Amino acid sequence: MDLPDPAPGSLERAWLDVTGLPTGGAERLPVIVVEGGSPGPTAWVTAGVHGDEVTGVVAAQDVANAFAPADGGADASGPLVDPADLRGRLVCVPVVNPAGLRRTTRHSYYGGEDPNRTFPDPTADSVGERTTQERVAERLYDAFADADLLLDLHTAQVNSIAYVIRHRVLYGERRDRETAEELADDLGRLTDALDLPTVVQYAPEEYVERGLHRSVAGAALNGAGVPACTVELGSHSTVDDRTRAAGVADVFRALVAFDALDSVPDPVLESDPATPDPVDFQVRRYRGPRVDAAGIVRPRVGPGDTVQAGDVVADVRTANGEYQSSVTSDHDGYVLAHRTGVAVYENDAVAALAVRDEEPLVGERP
Ligand SMILES: [Zn+2]
Repeated sequence: MDLPDPAPGSLERAWLDVTGLPTGGAERLPVIVVEGGSPGPTAWVTAGVHGDEVTGVVAAQDVANAFAPADGGADASGPLVDPADLRGRLVCVPVVNPAGLRRTTRHSYYGGEDPNRTFPDPTADSVGERTTQERVAERLYDAFADADLLLDLHTAQVNSIAYVIRHRVLYGERRDRETAEELADDLGRLTDALDLPTVVQYAPEEYVERGLHRSVAGAALNGAGVPACTVELGSHSTVDDRTRAAGVADVFRALVAFDALDSVPDPVLESDPATPDPVDFQVRRYRGPRVDAAGIVRPRVGPGDTVQAGDVVADVRTANGEYQSSVTSDHDGYVLAHRTGVAVYENDAVAALAVRDEEPLVGERP
């Protein structure tokens, strides 16, 4: 898979063949490469590994197009940034999962697995036969493995706030704790530069059990040692223009933090709606609280609202409206998003929360 190699101070659009299609031709990923006018870091922006997370797709396009000449689009008024002013190289892949994008579904239809759990895990003992999706993922991984930073753009649940997921750096056989802490510091340089609230990823055991070390950002960070994070830009399936603008601004903030640019372009800053952090302590992802029994869930708090341990988060009623129970939070934190729909079965989570986290930002690999 060969990336285009534009002349210094220019931009090139191309397609990356990643696998053959049964109907002929190739599945191909769109790519835009901006080559800066002087040496500097290689920054990657990926999006659309989940095919229904469309705000990330257009945000990645907009980041690249900020370096492109004016075209016929309503929002393009010439390059916001002269490519010659970039130091290093920017690589944008707006659609990592074209098969999912075609149908606005999270997964591709090659094998049905979550593509964001198929990236290489260099620590794994046995690899076995790899699926088509795993082969596609490996080709992309090989291309970004020598990057200096990577932002993978996603969206979360319906009505979710926008936030950044900071993955913990794992140590063990392949990486000692000291090296993990150095990488975590580099990652902090990236996440601290972003203006969205930061939510630390699940604890190492749950992280690996859920296969998140094989997500785009998880594999870039824990496999290839690249400072990388997952950016969640609000709701899936439709473009949210506010979170799109926040995502574009945060990619530019990352470029500035890694010395690839002097400043964020004014129009990008002006369109950023700003997303205040609901709390001033470290938080991690948490799915809960959970219901005891099936029913119809009625949240009492909404995305962005803070909660304290003991607060009622939701009530559960029967389908004919009778009150059954209330669900309280075990943690301090805030609401990231409600679940989709109102129907819950026993032990279903009623919300996605960010809850107080006192664990270190590195962890031993289980
Ligand atoms: Zn996603």
